[in-house]
Amino acid sequence: MRTRYQFHGGIHPPGNKTQSTQCSIARVPLPSRLVIPFRQHAGESAKPLVRVGDQVLKGQLIGMPDGFVSSAVHASTSGTIAAIDMQPIAHPSGMPDLCATLIPDGKEEWFPHAAVDYLNSDPAELRRYLRMSGVVGLGGAVFPCDLKLRPLRNHPNRNICTLILNGAECEPYITCDDMLMRERAAEIVQGAEMLRFMLEAREVLIGIEDNKPEAIAALQQAVTDSGLPFEVVVVPTIYPSGSAKQLIRILTGLEVPSGKLPTDIGVQCFNVATTYSVYRALAHGEPLLSRIVTVTGNVRHAQNFEVLLGTPVQELIALGEALPDTNRYIMGGPMMGMELASTDVPLVKGGNCIIAASDKLFPPAPPALPCIRCTRCAQACPADLQPMDLYWFAQSREFGKAQTFSLFDCIECGTCSYVCPSHIPLVQYFQFAKSEIRAREQDNLAAEHARERHEFREYRFEREKQEKAEKLAAKEQAVRQAQAAANPGVAAVQPEIQAAIDRAREQAAGVEPKNTGNPTPQQQAEIAEIEAQREHIRDLAKSAVEHTNGHDKN
Ligand code: SF4
Ligand code: SF4
Repeated sequence: MRTRYQFHGGIHPPGNKTQSTQCSIARVPLPSRLVIPFRQHAGESAKPLVRVGDQVLKGQLIGMPDGFVSSAVHASTSGTIAAIDMQPIAHPSGMPDLCATLIPDGKEEWFPHAAVDYLNSDPAELRRYLRMSGVVGLGGAVFPCDLKLRPLRNHPNRNICTLILNGAECEPYITCDDMLMRERAAEIVQGAEMLRFMLEAREVLIGIEDNKPEAIAALQQAVTDSGLPFEVVVVPTIYPSGSAKQLIRILTGLEVPSGKLPTDIGVQCFNVATTYSVYRALAHGEPLLSRIVTVTGNVRHAQNFEVLLGTPVQELIALGEALPDTNRYIMGGPMMGMELASTDVPLVKGGNCIIAASDKLFPPAPPALPCIRCTRCAQACPADLQPMDLYWFAQSREFGKAQTFSLFDCIECGTCSYVCPSHIPLVQYFQFAKSEIRAREQDNLAAEHARERHEFREYRFEREKQEKAEKLAAKEQAVRQAQAAANPGVAAVQPEIQAAIDRAREQAAGVEPKNTGNPTPQQQAEIAEIEAQREHIRDLAKSAVEHTNGHDKN
């Protein structure tokens, strides 16, 4: 039996999972309107490929990935594009985003698609295919799946040793992965084999918390049936075991170092729902059009639904039948989810759960009190941080110190806030500090770009000035050479001409003549001789110019 390791800290909040696992996954009826955001993933928004009035088929590409970190967006069903505009979405910023409104025609007519022979395909081609299929991490991070399948550059073997399937689903209330594993275990195992093939991983571990016995049994049976050498590893139920770094620690004993990625230690981790989407994409040629969503909390019918992306959250809530005292809704779990400003937002790829909340179910937090340095938060922190110190630095805006204390290793799991006897909303402070640091880094980056642009502009001006001067000098040199060639006599006296010009310039500039005394008879004779020479030089110069002008006209 495989050894299980422990990670630092962790808590045991009430699971509240049984409410939504009593019925199997149900399909949501086709809504009258789908609002499909062009950004449902980490990174750059997809670029719209459709216009208002276009007829689209189910699975048709409507948003092209735009940038390295980006993903495709597809029509969730067949119908007509009624609008492409800014619409409210479920995002902590509360800002609207560009969306396509699709009016379904009810035919569910598919865009032509086909399975991919992945065993005879180049992994790079498969990665491109998954990018164009819009497959992203469905565990919450929504990071484009293809990027997690790239070969490693900094690992000794350039290979992933261990592929981990994350079926821990540790956050209270959420059961979408549990139900998916119970009902579609064989497909998940096939998807895991596809990922293993692309990564060339040596072993595949499927980690599931011990509070999901049905899912464990289903996966074990599917692995046995497949004949694949995968291992289902049952892990203790403790929050947040479903966080990638913590699950890696439990299953392998390896620590992902601060500021590093799992791939730096030869491990890659995929959520089971993402794995299922990879299977649908390669085995059926289907892009990511729907996902399983838990509707639970203060509702009459807590259940999991298979929901088309873009379905209004209101319609999901209507299926769950929220109770009258419901006063808010949470997308995600109670620990890491976010409160929705409005239910008039579409369901997106990262939306795993909708919780109807009431004050009875989630009593409002008492007013925060001063920190008493009890260190409970540090004892519970799964990232082994010192939350009370981070809180102090965030509060006093000492962001540099917060970074030194590994602020960015914080996974925002909410464990510290959960245990804090002073009810300090610690995670909010950490989120604030992170956003401030990111904003400052953006500002610094922008200032650095502006400085570089200014310096380049100055350099360009200087270079142009120098080039002009060089051209002028070359032209003058060419004229002098032409003059010399036309009249060698001029060339002989050229230094004297130049000296006379320089003297004239000096006089014009107010430079005092060097000798101001009365000339002696001998000097007067020399002056007369110089004047005669000058007259002669002027004549020579005049004839040279006339000759050059005549030459230029030829
Ligand atoms: S748990 Fe709360 S009161 Fe205790 S040290 Fe941490 S922040 Fe301070
Ligand atoms: S939110 Fe951050 S600091 Fe708090 S327990 Fe989780 S990882 Fe630690």
